Amino acid sequence: MAQKRIYTFGAGKADGNKDMKELLGGKGAGLAEMSNIGIPVPPGFTITTEVCTEYYRSGKKLPKGLDAEIRAAIKKTEALTGKRFGDPSNPLLVSVRSGARVSMPGMMDTVLNLGLNDATAAGLAQRSGNPRFAWDSYRRFVAMFGDVVLGMKPERKEDRDPFEELLERKKHQRGVKYDSELPEAALRELVKEFKAETKKRTGKDFPDDVHEQLVAAVLAVFRSWENDRAIAYRKMYGYPSDWGTAVSVQSMVFGNMGDDSGTGVAFTRSPATGDDHFYGEFLVNAQGEDVVAGTRTPQKIAEMEAKWPEIAHQLEDVRRKLERHYKDMQDIEFTIEAGKLYVLQTRTAKRTGLAAVRIAVDMADEKLITKEQALARIDPEALNHLLRPIFDSDKKAAAVKAGKLLAKGLPAGPGAASGRLVFFAQDAEAWRARGETVILARHETSPEDIRGMAASEGFLTAFGGMTSHAALVARQMGKVAIVGCEALSFDYHARKMKVATEKGERTLSEGDWVSIDGSTGEVIEGKLETRPSEVVQVLVEKSRDPKDAPVYQEFAKIMGWADAARRLKVRANADQPDQATTAIAFGAQGIGLCRTEHMFFGEGKIGPMREMIVAETTEARRAALSKLLPLQREDFRGIFEAMGSRPVTIRTIDPPLHEFLPQDEKGVQALAAATGSSVEKIKKRIEELHESNPMLGHRGCRLGISYPEITEMQARAIFEAACDVAATGTKVEPEVMIPLVGSRKELDDQAAIVRRVADEVFAARKAKVRYLVGTMIEIPRGALTADEIAKTAEFFSFGTNDLTQTTFGLSRDDTGPVLAAYLEKDIWPVDPFVSIDRDGVGQLMKIAAKGGRSTKPDLKLGICGEHGGDPSSVEFCHQIGLDYVSCSPYRLPIARLAAAQAALKESGARAARGKANGKPARAMRNGRAVKAAAAAVGAAIATRAVARAGRKVAKAAAKAARRAR
Ligand code: ADP
Ligand code: MG
Ligand code: MG
Repeated sequence: MAQKRIYTFGAGKADGNKDMKELLGGKGAGLAEMSNIGIPVPPGFTITTEVCTEYYRSGKKLPKGLDAEIRAAIKKTEALTGKRFGDPSNPLLVSVRSGARVSMPGMMDTVLNLGLNDATAAGLAQRSGNPRFAWDSYRRFVAMFGDVVLGMKPERKEDRDPFEELLERKKHQRGVKYDSELPEAALRELVKEFKAETKKRTGKDFPDDVHEQLVAAVLAVFRSWENDRAIAYRKMYGYPSDWGTAVSVQSMVFGNMGDDSGTGVAFTRSPATGDDHFYGEFLVNAQGEDVVAGTRTPQKIAEMEAKWPEIAHQLEDVRRKLERHYKDMQDIEFTIEAGKLYVLQTRTAKRTGLAAVRIAVDMADEKLITKEQALARIDPEALNHLLRPIFDSDKKAAAVKAGKLLAKGLPAGPGAASGRLVFFAQDAEAWRARGETVILARHETSPEDIRGMAASEGFLTAFGGMTSHAALVARQMGKVAIVGCEALSFDYHARKMKVATEKGERTLSEGDWVSIDGSTGEVIEGKLETRPSEVVQVLVEKSRDPKDAPVYQEFAKIMGWADAARRLKVRANADQPDQATTAIAFGAQGIGLCRTEHMFFGEGKIGPMREMIVAETTEARRAALSKLLPLQREDFRGIFEAMGSRPVTIRTIDPPLHEFLPQDEKGVQALAAATGSSVEKIKKRIEELHESNPMLGHRGCRLGISYPEITEMQARAIFEAACDVAATGTKVEPEVMIPLVGSRKELDDQAAIVRRVADEVFAARKAKVRYLVGTMIEIPRGALTADEIAKTAEFFSFGTNDLTQTTFGLSRDDTGPVLAAYLEKDIWPVDPFVSIDRDGVGQLMKIAAKGGRSTKPDLKLGICGEHGGDPSSVEFCHQIGLDYVSCSPYRLPIARLAAAQAALKESGARAARGKANGKPARAMRNGRAVKAAAAAVGAAIATRAVARAGRKVAKAAAKAARRAR
């Protein structure tokens, strides 16, 4: 039998269900599920995504037999509604709605009120007793059909929609502000004018045959899968083009029937903060997109109680029912037709990082989900949102007092942002590319603006509510945003923004600084300083009592659950005691990378360092080193003290020496004076040290091999400091790490020095500390000969920055021009310096891990490259059996959560396998819970891909900026 191509829904049942998103699209699956659980949904049917694929495969033709199937499905819808398609005495009207498996807001097309012609319009007028409503629906239909199906929607943003232009003119003629104020006669005129315009532009009469309308609309929705916006969006988020869109044909319900009708959108909790409040907006006597389009400012859902108490209660029931059923926050579309409520869409709602944490914690506390599911639901990157700076409240208060508060809007994206005003998305991109920080301010934003939005620090719009495009994108990209700031108006031509304030009108120009507080909705003139977030105030500054820090408390809960679930340990990359302290506050279990070279730039150290480098004899070098020894010992002592009994991995000197030498004449003279040498000689030495490709030159262990006395000094400083701190009763555990090792002999050479010095220090101090000598695996040869290297090494730490650089043969500092083109052309799915390239670099890591452990089964393995704080890379490290990941202190929370998710995903997969192998029933039951958690992790990873795509755009912009400089 042929594949089932059409799935019907309505009257309390459906062919499909919520798990069929791939086939029915998110919208179709949601409509089916809501029908199944008894939520009032207007009946209809969904044509599968497979039909869309078939349409493209067969050269964009209506697939064979579909016409008849559509006719049959319409018959069923007629039966369920009691109306008839094309019948003037009781006409059935339908919407034809697009819907891919993932939500692509506003990217594809939908046609409403289909099935109208002069005869059915007259019938609708008579039957409803409301001719104004009938003609309002008709003019909407002709415009939508013209735009979407007949291709009259302008392609360029500068061009105006012909129907909108006619509508504007009509409103002007009639002296009214809103569509809803136009009388019936004006609407009748509009229908005529719209049709005339259609004829003028397309050369054809507007189709009167309703079935012809329907088929044309279905094909147009299929085509909209390949419109420029949808293609750009898919590219950005990495969605393949062969997914296709489903088409849902649904009987119309009318929010534009009068003052007991309306339409709205709502979130079952606050998408900005996660508050357990019903959150939404509605418009009386309006249809479809009117709320989102922001032609009139909608009312808050809380105001519905007073107006329509019955409906408000029903809606509250729907809210509870959907949350309990989906076990997650939903975002819904609803319509009220003559006092009766219908739900038209439900989907898992996008939310800010703040809200994501809040909702996961609350739902776990409510026992709606398990802790594991709560963990799985939060995109680790979302935690950044909780660490992001906020405005300093004193500074802000001062600015407000000084009259700098311009306006207040709706707080749609929490956080604080200051930037220069731009009014066009293209400008945001261009300015950002020049290295400016910008705030994009507009009347409203639309899907075309998405790249410019990615390039902005935050958005500010005059129109729209918490469900507007700008609010939605802010949540998705984690940007600061204020929307619906009605005091603003724009003169795009003059590039000016006017603000109506109590004291009269203020005008700001492009390039002026503004600050926006996305947590309160305040728009402030000028640049405002920020201060650390609540979490940072509690943990790092210790300036706030955790009891008065609700956001911190949620954060702490999630972190506690993550720590219980993860196997990977987390360490920090920290070079100084204060960084070490911050790292511990964020949960570091050790230091995975302490770079000693940064220390040489510290107070009083660069002088002796330079003397050491330009020294011409070993004695002179030793003399300089002996000045460095006590300074370096102090550095290490500070770190050991801060870290207590946690392990500390210290890397011996790594960068090429010329990086430490003076660049300017004055520095050269000073160095000459200090060493008693001549300026010429110093210059000559600098010349000698010049390398044409320093990243592949005299650096890493190669330095210690040429100048063993440097390694010697560093080892001495480490062990003396360790003995000092151990003497105070702390159990110190230094791990000395040799960089850039490609062969065992290199490590042998350096390890021998370290061990000899350790023995000398221990003998002199009559004390001993436990220590390890290990190596970084960061060049391919090291990875390939890891089994040999492990004969000497007591641990490996993957230096994935260098390993990526050397595996790709691409200098990390020169990726700019390469990266932009490679990401654009999809040659790389993501920047390999951000997420580990599993197939190449990852392969080398696997070889090294396996090789190392074949020699020493319990060899300690870690990673200290930038990737240690990237969720996808953390997952990979878990999978290949590393012991820990190390990252910068502020990324530790992300690493902790990512590590927990990796562990949950693995146990979920194991449980699923156990089930397949016919394990006993009890294990299966547990398995199911774990599997559910694993599925949720999958979903979280998909969301993460979305977030990553947003970052990818921002990143590309940043890179372009670097290139431009
Ligand atoms: P999008 O994916 O862009 O949101 P939708 O298909 O959801 O597009 O529809 C656009 C608008 O039209 C939404 O506000 C939706 O609620 C409304 N709508 C769609 N179908 C119907 C219908 N059968 N009756 C009333 N309103 C509808
Ligand atoms: Mg919708
Ligand atoms: Mg390195």
